[in-house]
Amino acid sequence: MPRPSPSWNPTKPNRMVRIHPIRTGTVQFRTAQIRARSQGPFRLWRILSDREWTRELPIYCYLIEHPEGLFMVDTGASARVMEPGFFPRWHPYYRRAVKYRVAPEDEVGPQLRALGFDPEKVGCVIMTNMQVGHSGGLKYFNRARIIVSAQEWASCMGGVGRLSGYPNAHWPKWLTPRMVTFNAGQIGGLARSQPLTGDGAIYLVRTPGHTHGSISCVVEDGGLMFFFAGDASYLHSTMCEMVADGYAAHPRLQVNTLRNIRELAQSRPMVYLPTHDPDAARRLMELDTSVD
Ligand SMILES: [Zn+2]
Repeated sequence: MPRPSPSWNPTKPNRMVRIHPIRTGTVQFRTAQIRARSQGPFRLWRILSDREWTRELPIYCYLIEHPEGLFMVDTGASARVMEPGFFPRWHPYYRRAVKYRVAPEDEVGPQLRALGFDPEKVGCVIMTNMQVGHSGGLKYFNRARIIVSAQEWASCMGGVGRLSGYPNAHWPKWLTPRMVTFNAGQIGGLARSQPLTGDGAIYLVRTPGHTHGSISCVVEDGGLMFFFAGDASYLHSTMCEMVADGYAAHPRLQVNTLRNIRELAQSRPMVYLPTHDPDAARRLMELDTSVD
């Protein structure tokens, strides 16, 4: 059985949500992928020629329990990434620059069941992007409303999507996501969507840069802002430093996004939760003891 990560429990009566970080295996990147060493056209070459690996980084997705239902942010990785032939052999990035470790019990479905949740009861899945470590568990959520940005959907499909590294041949045939529009003004410098819940607590923001259509999910609860960043940055520290990652589709756009997130984080209490940050779950746990 998978060992569930500890969850953040609302210990104060004015808290509504409960957040469960779910670690669906690990990934190692080349160090040049975490912090770009240039913003020029040879970014991928710099990753491919880098000899250094990062340590094993988590692949998180998050379950949010809200009075109006269960929400997932991303779906983690699939254990099929370990099978020969999952990645196209011709793709230099997958041949040389990334190492996944995902067991069948690491997938989001078994982990939700171990936590006592039926994946079929999840009402809404928010896809921060459609890359390998985010879209691998979609098969468990055939009953949910799946939300993607129109820009992400346009860039992840077909041969062009595969060339960019999206595993679209492995997604469920029934996948027909809903496109989200960002027509509800701004929060800080970030364009925001209409709320997903009647109380206005959960909404999405555009955080482009890592991919064209990257989005993040915001949950406001008890005076705190939980910022589910996807790959807006790989780490909390690279957000604070406003440094693009080496795989970013638009490094300059990413730096601008990170500047906006940082300004938001300076203006209010925020818990920043990227997909691959080894300290994300710890930051959630520490809230139980440190926040009034
Ligand atoms: Zn990722």
